[in-house]
Amino acid sequence: MLSVEEALERVLAAVPVLGSEVVELGAALGRVLAEPIVAGRDLPPWDNSSMDGYALRAEDTTGASGERPARLRVVGAVPAGAVANRAVGPGEAYRILTGAPMPGGADAVVPQEDVGRESGLVLVSRAVERGAFVRPRGEDIVSGETAIESGTVLRPAALGVLAALGRPVVRVYQRPRVAILSTGDELVDLDTVPGPGQIANSNTYTLAALVREAGGIPVVLGIARDAPEDLKERFGWGAAADVLVSSAGVSVGDRDLVRDVMAALGAELDFWKVSMRPGKPLTFGRLGGRPFFGLPGNPVSSMVTFELFVRPTLRKMGGHTALQRPRLRARALEAIDNPGARRGYLRVRLVPEGAHIRATPTGEQGSAILRSMLLADGLAVVPPDTRVAPGQEVEVILLHSDAVATFYDI
Ligand code: AMP
Ligand code: MG
Repeated sequence: MLSVEEALERVLAAVPVLGSEVVELGAALGRVLAEPIVAGRDLPPWDNSSMDGYALRAEDTTGASGERPARLRVVGAVPAGAVANRAVGPGEAYRILTGAPMPGGADAVVPQEDVGRESGLVLVSRAVERGAFVRPRGEDIVSGETAIESGTVLRPAALGVLAALGRPVVRVYQRPRVAILSTGDELVDLDTVPGPGQIANSNTYTLAALVREAGGIPVVLGIARDAPEDLKERFGWGAAADVLVSSAGVSVGDRDLVRDVMAALGAELDFWKVSMRPGKPLTFGRLGGRPFFGLPGNPVSSMVTFELFVRPTLRKMGGHTALQRPRLRARALEAIDNPGARRGYLRVRLVPEGAHIRATPTGEQGSAILRSMLLADGLAVVPPDTRVAPGQEVEVILLHSDAVATFYDI
């Protein structure tokens, strides 16, 4: 039996990182940068004022005091968006507004609230330091330096830096297109009220959403009947995708139609017994170089298997370096029980208790109980044959970050 880590390592070794594409800044949020961004300009582009006030020569204020203020002649005004039309000479000052370029000769700004005014003059009653309230050219980013490393996930601040550097488009990794095929004679889709023996197809919708969350693009192939021709045709539709994911039809004791059809289509397949609960043998393969995952049909099993194997795969293909969900340690509020020889991935809610995080099972943990996933903030990772007693620590894979917004430590 493989550990989850060993199985994942094998999967990741077999999948490529996709190529890149160019997107507009407005569409780049959350994408992974596929080129280093080398600054083509200094930020800020010139020395400028950080205050509304007066630009002056610091040396003109040496020894200034309340009794003997420096009296400087105001020789012009420069708002943001303009440039001073002359330099500041000895005994002179220039009216300046926030963001405006420093006039030549000036080396400091005194804020307007710190000066006195007399007709045509500004009175400064203390010595001003060189550089005061001046934002020097290049203090943020210097032309020629790498402002953003390749592989960075583009968050709002990165988009701001790109805009400030005058880059309307950016090269990012492609998002993996993931074909999703649900299989089973019992399934009907949302346009049909389930009849006797039928159930609504829910896996297509959970899996498509998980693909989106992982940064991929779902390509929904609908429902295949448990019939080789239908499976073959629909898997064929997935040929344009980067990854194929199917649900159901791979249980032990099944007619193994999914595997037979994939093998007939030329896929190389591996079946691994993985130490995880919920779980079935993991079916992984490659069809024409593209990864294929045959996920179990039970709604919780397919989601948990996706989390542990498909999500990191999609992250790798999409250029991410952080492939895993974050994990934290929490104390159990109620017992978290994992009987049996496989490692448990049990659905837990995270509950605040003062500044601490407590984990508590979301109820019945059966692999068909979607409600256990609905209520879950995380998956508690519990070793085989282990009962985490109340108060004991347990590792939790975070399924979404809202869960920890109010917690500080365990
Ligand atoms: P199977 O792996 O085909 O034996 O399916 C295992 C269980 O998962 C059965 O109870 C199926 O009815 C259920 N199941 C399979 N596919 C889906 C699906 N797309 N949506 C919801 N439940 C499913
Ligand atoms: Mg089935």
